[in-house]
Amino acid sequence: MSEELIINKIEQEKEEYIEFLRELVQSDSINPPGNEKNVALIIEEYLKSTGIKTEIFPFGDNRANLLAYLNDNFKGKNLLYNGHMDVVPPGSETDWKYPPLSASIKRNKLIFGRGTTDMKGALAAMVIALKILKDLKIEVTGNLILNAVADEETGGEYGTRWCLNNPLKPIKCDFAVIGEPTDLSPLPKAIIVGEKGHLLIKIKTCGISGHSSFPAISKNAIYMMSEIIEKLDKIDDYIPKSEPPIKLEKLKKLIAVTFPSEDIFNRILNEQPEMQSLIQSLTNYSKALTMIKGGIKENVIPDSCEAILDVRLLPNQQGEPIIEALKKLIRDDVGYIVKDDSTSPPGEVFVEIEIISASEGSYWENWEESDELHDFYELVETIYEKKTFYLLLPGSADAKYLRNDGYCPQTILFGLGKARNAHAIDENIEILDFIRVIKVYTIFAYRFLTKQ
Ligand SMILES: [Zn+2]
Repeated sequence: MSEELIINKIEQEKEEYIEFLRELVQSDSINPPGNEKNVALIIEEYLKSTGIKTEIFPFGDNRANLLAYLNDNFKGKNLLYNGHMDVVPPGSETDWKYPPLSASIKRNKLIFGRGTTDMKGALAAMVIALKILKDLKIEVTGNLILNAVADEETGGEYGTRWCLNNPLKPIKCDFAVIGEPTDLSPLPKAIIVGEKGHLLIKIKTCGISGHSSFPAISKNAIYMMSEIIEKLDKIDDYIPKSEPPIKLEKLKKLIAVTFPSEDIFNRILNEQPEMQSLIQSLTNYSKALTMIKGGIKENVIPDSCEAILDVRLLPNQQGEPIIEALKKLIRDDVGYIVKDDSTSPPGEVFVEIEIISASEGSYWENWEESDELHDFYELVETIYEKKTFYLLLPGSADAKYLRNDGYCPQTILFGLGKARNAHAIDENIEILDFIRVIKVYTIFAYRFLTKQ
């Protein structure tokens, strides 16, 4: 068995792979509500022809997670491929060049559709890698586990997290790849070893309503909110300093490997606000006020105003100190009472703080010492004929569930498509990228599972 055989097989079966991917894109798994079982059934059918048994774990209304294995021996080294089946809503269909579930092919080069990038393209490539290894009857010393999950776009509780706590629990995992899009164009494709967490906070100011013709006896909740917003930057002084897992200079060096020299990288960095902002976000926590709502009528003083603060945490940063800092700011600097719920007598003036959603960041501490990761890196460079690099992700993904509970800290993100294309109108992928990712996933699994 040679790797050349694998490459040749992929080149010969290209059309079949593209059709399989299109079928996945065409099946509705928009979350909410999910309907991921539609996708799971297509995967099951595709793998059936090659004798791979799949286990489907249904839940809710037409939702499901799926597991499939190369063999039934889990005693050797186990490699886990994880891809989510759900996609975000496409928004207004008329804004799309091609219908979002059409999987239209353009110029034999691009495939358009919701989920092509995030992440049915990578999911298809993972399924195909499993099928190729089975078809070729490769003798392996370990196992390849495919986990197609639901619910990633709404937090992953019922998807990856559920699988780890249930069917995957007794199975040891030695290395995991999640197929999120990691092309950070204009930078090349990255291998992601950590990601940020998030904290969505609702700030609600509660004042006293009244007729707007004599505002003095009321307490305008919009003005209260504006006092908070004006001082918001001061919470930085109250938040304990958190060190980024990869410090600024090191991070720059990691990116610089994709440039002809560090000098050239630094020169380009000076002229690229986008790249500066990426580096800034990977070495700092960030906060952004993203929504505001207040008032019920033109001539009524509003007694309530709500704003949403979107906080992004460093991979090792906790959310609690941020909440405490915000409360301190509102109490000490703005001068309002802070409560965790709004059950109070009418006429009371206060501010309510509520956490709407939160997720931890995660980071693979010892990634630099991993031979397997090094193999993966070299393979990507060979297949893509281009430099790749290690980086963190400003967003968040299911990797936290694998890394943080100690199940498999050696988890990376690597997939096809441009990260900025995810969730966007006219989401699309390059067919060439798709084929290359199939090669990377298949050959990596081949090497991982046959290495003595
Ligand atoms: Zn995704």
